[in-house]
Amino acid sequence: MGSQITGQTAIYGVIGDPITHSLSPMIHNYLAKSLQQDVIYVPFSLSPHQLRTGIEGAWVLGVQGLNVTIPHKETVINQLDHIDEFASQLGAVNTLKRTEKGYKGYNTDGDGLFQSLARHQVVLENKTIMIIGAGGAARAAAMMAAKKKAGRIYILNRTLQNAINLANHIQKFYDIDVQAYTLDQWDKIFNIDLCIQTTSIGMHPHIEVAPIEEPEFFSRIHTVLDVVYNPIQTKLLSLAEEAGCQTINGLEMLVFQAVRAYELWHETRVPMNLQEKVLDHVSQYFKPKDDQKL
Ligand code: NAP
Repeated sequence: MGSQITGQTAIYGVIGDPITHSLSPMIHNYLAKSLQQDVIYVPFSLSPHQLRTGIEGAWVLGVQGLNVTIPHKETVINQLDHIDEFASQLGAVNTLKRTEKGYKGYNTDGDGLFQSLARHQVVLENKTIMIIGAGGAARAAAMMAAKKKAGRIYILNRTLQNAINLANHIQKFYDIDVQAYTLDQWDKIFNIDLCIQTTSIGMHPHIEVAPIEEPEFFSRIHTVLDVVYNPIQTKLLSLAEEAGCQTINGLEMLVFQAVRAYELWHETRVPMNLQEKVLDHVSQYFKPKDDQKL
């Protein structure tokens, strides 16, 4: 955001319900200020029944781009003029970019995840990946793993049928071995290169739990990434760290998916040193009062 809003300031935002706790305005306005771009990014609270008129209204008012969060990531697809191929395969959109006739939808969650893995030199190709959960974040993780030619994917979920559905969905697009299990069947699986935790288990305020807690589980895994970012250090990550696993927190994915959206909107590349600064800026926000901020 520039120092002053003018008649030329471009408007961006995020739609969701609830939205007041979103970190996206902090990330995007920090980027805009650092890059001295005349843009502002604001949160818009939008309930499901307002979605159609909200999107139409944003376009009429000249909003240049929107991020999309819970509960609109899937339903917003019906309001789009175009959709990017990966987002279409996912069936979920988190970024809208203004076009002549409406908005084009993208999904940057997979890219954000991939970049946070790359930051830790974790590669997906030919690797054995375990995904805990089978919801929207799991779908983005699984599709990204398949796209990057993972060797095998295990999906573990509370509701087995949802894991089976996700496995079938991935295999519609990629020729890859995907197996579905319930959470307590982890003991059937060995030699996991990367475990990606995608459920909300361990999220504030229920921070004392992890989806799987047995020490034996962690001895079978090299790297654990938890998409939950509040708290930054989840119980799962603490257990993994104690067991000697490499760990990656969910704040990185959050920041990098936002950076990717920024790059799409502004057709630019955000320098790596600035991306690191954003990550540091958002981390600082969490550190002093982890339990009070969100
Ligand atoms: P979602 O579509 O509602 O999926 C929720 C998943 O969690 C389902 O697999 C569900 O299992 C499982 N689950 C929920 N409560 C559970 C419980 N008590 N015990 C066992 N399993 C449980 O949600 P989502 O959109 O994927 O989001 C999940 C989490 O990811 C949220 O915390 C969100 O904030 C986070 N996220 C982070 C980022 C990031 O950038 N870091 C991006 C996206 C999402 P069932 O199928 O059995 O219901």
